Amino acid sequence: MNADPSKTITPHDTGCIFCKIVAGQIPCHKLYEDERVLSFLDIGPLSRGHCLVIPKAHYETIDATPGDLAGACAAVIARVSGAVRAATGATGFNVLQNNGAVSGQEVAHMHFHIIPRQANDGLGYRWLPGKLDAAGAATLIKAIGAGLER
Ligand SMILES: [Zn+2]
Repeated sequence: MNADPSKTITPHDTGCIFCKIVAGQIPCHKLYEDERVLSFLDIGPLSRGHCLVIPKAHYETIDATPGDLAGACAAVIARVSGAVRAATGATGFNVLQNNGAVSGQEVAHMHFHIIPRQANDGLGYRWLPGKLDAAGAATLIKAIGAGLER
């Protein structure tokens, strides 16, 4: 852990399309930018105003991303999503963040989707809830807790 992030080299991947966007090598429809975070329109939108929020530094998944940088992204999501909602007249929106190909992540640079929603817009996903019993919960709390102590 570096105490002064300004003195670290920003991790990047020369083969990463998002790193190329950050570097200005590939254009984007930019919505917002600050020192650490960039937001731009998704070129394959699920709905009008669908946009992305990414850290400028390259981390593949959110669990590999420093917490303060993930937090900086969350602050931008809060700001941009309200503006997108107002501009599009969306009555709601999803914030979606995929990790790993199995989850649907297509670009291996951690990113959040902001997806404006309207009633009966046809978007959705399968949500098939199971049941959590007390023994299963206790086992998970112990195992996850061990990971949090690292
Ligand atoms: Zn990247």
